[in-house]
Amino acid sequence: MFKRLSSIAVVSLSLIASSALAQPETLSEQELRLISWVDKNQDQILTELKSHVEINTGTANIEGLNLYRDLLSADLAALGFSTETHSSSDIKVLSCKGGSIQIADHLVAKRSGSAKNRVLMNGHMDTVFSKDDEFQTLNIADDGVLKGPGVADMKGGIVIMINALRALHAQGLLDDTNLTVLFNSDEEIGSLGSRQLIEELARQHDIGLVFEGSYNNLATRARKGLGQVRLRVTGRESHAGGAHEEGVSATLELAHKVIEIEKLTDYSRKVTVNTGVLSGGEKRNTVPGCADAYIDMRFPSLEAGQQLEQSVKRIAAAKPVVKNAKYPDLPIVESWAVLHRPVKPENAKVDEIIAQAMALSALIGEPIVGTRYSGGGTDGSIAQGVGLPTMDSLGMDGKGAHSSREESTVQSLIARTKLAAVMLARQLHQ
Ligand SMILES: [Zn+2]
Repeated sequence: MFKRLSSIAVVSLSLIASSALAQPETLSEQELRLISWVDKNQDQILTELKSHVEINTGTANIEGLNLYRDLLSADLAALGFSTETHSSSDIKVLSCKGGSIQIADHLVAKRSGSAKNRVLMNGHMDTVFSKDDEFQTLNIADDGVLKGPGVADMKGGIVIMINALRALHAQGLLDDTNLTVLFNSDEEIGSLGSRQLIEELARQHDIGLVFEGSYNNLATRARKGLGQVRLRVTGRESHAGGAHEEGVSATLELAHKVIEIEKLTDYSRKVTVNTGVLSGGEKRNTVPGCADAYIDMRFPSLEAGQQLEQSVKRIAAAKPVVKNAKYPDLPIVESWAVLHRPVKPENAKVDEIIAQAMALSALIGEPIVGTRYSGGGTDGSIAQGVGLPTMDSLGMDGKGAHSSREESTVQSLIARTKLAAVMLARQLHQ
């Protein structure tokens, strides 16, 4: 508890809002009409969220993601967008099992006009819940609590985006705008396939809005960078009883490597390493011939990230501890590492958008009450990494993401849809 509180820096509303003195504090007639469109369509928005949550879109569920993408594509086409799909090549996996990860196609929808400000809206279609997970439906409680897989992360954000766009469309406010919507399908594995596409689009726009959820109604102001590492150790299988001395234990060697890598965690420098997945061998009575690990890295600066990556590679390449004179070439240690999400530092333009969101949400409902520094990354980190100022917590406020406790509320869904509509109208017509 203490740890969590200490990692959240709450900035007072007045402090951050002071940078947005230029923003009008009242809502125009047109903005009130956007809000009343959302009020009138509340039931349909909630029904839509339920149907989105109940299409399983675990990252590996290509069929589910294809179905979901087609539905979103039709929704955007109905709003006058031209739509196209983009494919990613499979990601080769360094593990004992080998193989590769297939990635479903991403969706890009565009409207172009003469408006000056070019806006990129981004959401991810995939969730962490696989097709065979027990958590598959949206439960709507009488008090408005919503429990469901990906409800805040981030089917809710997508429903907010679509309905904010519908509200604008109903008033002709999408006409002559420069707006791109990107729905990618691999965010939950670190956007390993869509990164290039995100970067390409980010370079063509002036402002980025990402509809990931918020936590405790705090907007995320800055984020750590993220990296991932895979290790595979190849040893020599042998009977654990009859021929122990003929074996080279891959598991034992990997254990030594993992202990060294875990020592790189340094809370004082905000650098952490986590061996999230570790496995080796197949049978109790066999010296294991293969072992693998999948490791997460978090860091506060590019330099710290590069240092971490180099240290991990150095440890992987160091002389093995496990030896067998009969097999001097074993064990073999292979490593793969990538810094997949850049650090997202504070940014004056983003602070301005956050201040606008705080001021407007105070008028609209479910106010965003402050900001936080997060250890987690989003696609907003990738977009901002190539220079696009991006606010990335405009979706539903929620908790328990990536677990069967994931929840949000109807109130948040409706209030954030109104906020998105008003903010989008302001950004598009600047
Ligand atoms: Zn997410």
